[in-house]
Amino acid sequence: MNTNYALVTGGSRGIGAAICKRLAKDGYNILLNFRSNTKAANATKSEIEALGQKVDLLQCDISDNEAWTKSFETWQQNNPEAVIRVLVNNAGQRIDKLFMWMEHENWNDVMDTHVGGFFNVTKLIYPLLVKERTGRIVNVVSLSGIKGMPGQTNYSAAKAAIIGATKALAQEVGRSKITVNAVAPGFIKTDMTEDLDESQLKRMIPLKRFGTADEVAALVSFLASDEAGYITGTTISINGGLYT
Ligand code: NAP
Repeated sequence: MNTNYALVTGGSRGIGAAICKRLAKDGYNILLNFRSNTKAANATKSEIEALGQKVDLLQCDISDNEAWTKSFETWQQNNPEAVIRVLVNNAGQRIDKLFMWMEHENWNDVMDTHVGGFFNVTKLIYPLLVKERTGRIVNVVSLSGIKGMPGQTNYSAAKAAIIGATKALAQEVGRSKITVNAVAPGFIKTDMTEDLDESQLKRMIPLKRFGTADEVAALVSFLASDEAGYITGTTISINGGLYT
């Protein structure tokens, strides 16, 4: 029986769904977290099951530590044989506004989802990886966290915070043979970017197109693989050449 699991937050749609499918092809059962879109989660679950792997859905808002902890611990009790090998911190949201119009609520919601969510989820999972003395943590950050984007002070700050946490945690857990890395996508075609005009924005991208969720998933799959065992503490950009 395959007891190896990959946990993907925000795995129901977009980049997270592509990561779930790719890691399922790599041989993992999937623990798929999502917040509210049950229809999308069930559709992704069916696609993964068609690949021959088990999928367990974990519906909760990861910024709510009590809800997340209860949800995860219940799953653990029901699946005592399961071993988490890979954690992908992917869940995210944008609330874009120029700083002069940004309310405390907009700042806090984005920080709570990305930075709070990263902390809540990783806090419960990393001791399990340490116990196994192996594991992979991959954090999905953003070009915004590297260069900063106007209208995204909240989102850029949140993603930059996770890049810092990636570097620090990698140094703490290296002795347990756990790697911690981040991937920083530029513009990727998902629900999150459907309000953006690709025909205009692609002009400033050297590869002249938005990326796909599958391309990001392939990079995450590599970082989760044995072959990537000597890569840690780094952030790898996947942005069509759009660095500045
Ligand atoms: P998306 O299509 O909007 O999907 C977001 C996913 O995150 C959904 O599964 C959603 O669940 C989940 N989610 C959001 N807030 C959550 C919360 N508080 N708790 C649990 N789940 C939550 O987004 P995407 O484009 O795939 O983005 C995935 C990641 O890549 C994000 O971290 C994003 O910041 C990053 N990123 C995206 C791009 C891009 O161009 N698309 C670029 C750079 C970085 P529901 O379905 O239930 O709402």
